Amino acid sequence: MSQRLILFDIDGTLLRTNGAGVGAFNEAGRRVFGEDFSLEGLLVGGQLDSLILGRALDRLGIEHFEAHMDIFRLHYHECLTRHFNSGEREAVAMPGVQELLGRLGADDQFDVGLLTGNLEETGLLKLEAAGIASFHFHIHAWGDEGDSREELPPVAMDRWRAHRSADREFHQAIIIGDTIHDVGCAKANGCRVLGVCTGVDDRPTLEKAGADLVLDDLSDTDAVMSWLESA
Ligand SMILES: [Mg+2]
Repeated sequence: MSQRLILFDIDGTLLRTNGAGVGAFNEAGRRVFGEDFSLEGLLVGGQLDSLILGRALDRLGIEHFEAHMDIFRLHYHECLTRHFNSGEREAVAMPGVQELLGRLGADDQFDVGLLTGNLEETGLLKLEAAGIASFHFHIHAWGDEGDSREELPPVAMDRWRAHRSADREFHQAIIIGDTIHDVGCAKANGCRVLGVCTGVDDRPTLEKAGADLVLDDLSDTDAVMSWLESA
């Protein structure tokens, strides 16, 4: 019976899109809101897509971004699909990710999920483009399911409890992510957290933020598994 929930961030942790994500976001924004739309200068890593859109629209003086979410999502999904299909920008799984997901899935101590700033349809599209099967993930907390990243672990926990029809505690969940925001949302909720240096933040930054373990990447499957078993 599973006693631990492993929650993966997507960008910079499971995969990188080599600019396709931000490129498609910008393109969709320009289509829907005009040529002045830009993510230039905005913090993107570790942020929720819904909030990134809100900040970009704030700068244009457009209020109530929620009212525009549905139309933006349609265009973002279409642009991202085209970016990947064109082959110009390729999504790539990070080192060790496929093997780690295989090992976790074969071990009934673990349930595996996603805790991400991505919206569901574009998050799944990135995984597919990187060749990472979505069946690995049974629990999801997406980027429009909270007003901040700190609100996502409780969403994931509620789903884990429902999935297992059993009580589960926050300290049984381990978040794996590449930014101080992954670390922060874990610490704020009493989850454990593994920082990886494959994305935005470097080792000293992740350590200073309070990550319980920081690894250069996830390629040493045995080491990652034994830490997850004992964390
Ligand atoms: Mg990330």
